[in-house]
Amino acid sequence: MENKKILLVHPEISRTKYNFAGIIDNEPLELEYIWTMLKDAGYEPFIWDGQVADEPFADKLAEIKPYAVYICGRTRQENFMKEYCKAAKAMGCVTMIGGLHAHTSYKRFYESYVDFVFRSFDIFGILNVLEERGLASVNGLSRRQGSGWIENDSEPFDIKRLPRPDRTNFYAHPRYRYLELQPCAHVRTAYCCPYRCKFCCRNKMNCGTYVTRDIEDVVDEIASIDCENIYIVDDDFLFNEKRLQRFIELVRERGIHKRYVCYGRADFISKHRELMEELKDIGFYYVLVGLEAADDKHLYRYNKKSDLHANSAAVEILNDVGINAMGMFIVDLDFKGEDFRDISRWVRRHKLKHAAISIFTPEMSSELFEEYRSRLVTRDPSHWDYLHVVAKPAHMSVRRYYMHYHILVVKLFLRAWRQGIYDFIDYKYFIGSMVKNLFKFGG
Ligand code: SF4
Repeated sequence: MENKKILLVHPEISRTKYNFAGIIDNEPLELEYIWTMLKDAGYEPFIWDGQVADEPFADKLAEIKPYAVYICGRTRQENFMKEYCKAAKAMGCVTMIGGLHAHTSYKRFYESYVDFVFRSFDIFGILNVLEERGLASVNGLSRRQGSGWIENDSEPFDIKRLPRPDRTNFYAHPRYRYLELQPCAHVRTAYCCPYRCKFCCRNKMNCGTYVTRDIEDVVDEIASIDCENIYIVDDDFLFNEKRLQRFIELVRERGIHKRYVCYGRADFISKHRELMEELKDIGFYYVLVGLEAADDKHLYRYNKKSDLHANSAAVEILNDVGINAMGMFIVDLDFKGEDFRDISRWVRRHKLKHAAISIFTPEMSSELFEEYRSRLVTRDPSHWDYLHVVAKPAHMSVRRYYMHYHILVVKLFLRAWRQGIYDFIDYKYFIGSMVKNLFKFGG
């Protein structure tokens, strides 16, 4: 193999205005791991990230003329992943698909222009493919053979095997951000999640096995990153109290001064006030909490293993200690008008400064998908972005549901505007387009 060029691709999130470009732009950490591994193995890897790239994918492909392309993405990016794969295949490249969507919905990529699908976090299988060796033993590999596909078994991947990522791509794009934290570097300390919330596909990743890195190694990596904002992208970082205490100890010992973003559960936060005070002290700035609902009925139905009392206590503690709580809610497809208003009231009553709303979306790989199959109103994977209604609501038309949703979102935007947060956002534009949608899609 003379051509050692490999193009690693993270497609744009969407080609409409409905994305968070310029508000949340995520560092493509998974590609940076692969980039590092390929570089170490003597390849010439390139990253093209549609969120921040200046040139279109087609130009990059024509310029580099790679031997192979590896394309990752989420459900909402499936169309782009396929489009890019087709273009690369037309140029004679080996085509590989990976990433979160492919892990669970791999059969959607069984196409004539796709050669390999990776269903595991084990990035080292990419080397086997490039060197055409030991394919039968590659963890979670699907490979095309004639018109059929051969599927290897998947096993949990030991996260400790990941290389320390080379951040060349990150430093070249200061646009990566989380809200006002810009630039903002991603750090991963674990794969999967120990909980089993019904609507969530994260707990199915890595064969459902939660694995963690040594916290000493994590702190060492954070110290080495030339960026003062760190987004710990684990599905749930606030899980093991002892591990967190060691993290705090090490950060203090090493005199690291940064701001952190992480995910945490309300039930954990509600039981660990002192720990949250300490996390605030070392720089925790945003904690993203899946509050999910403003009533216990939905929390129970989602198998959240938490309750409204924990939600209230978690927000109160975060407000008291001075960490920004980003409360994430789901507007369910069984909502009546009153349920939308309950969320808005709950946010006001609990003085929750930051709130995010997702429309309930049955993940394609979940058993919920089968439950909702007969109610689907779209099959377009780009609508699996939590901003679209993908299945018929139980108690109202899609139009009416959108009306309630848009009213709720406009209320939260106005509240954020009044509080003077997110001053980098063009509020007039966002609220204007929401009101326009209100008339276009609902109301
Ligand atoms: S705690 Fe969060 S990441 Fe874990 S299963 Fe529940 S929603 Fe998913």
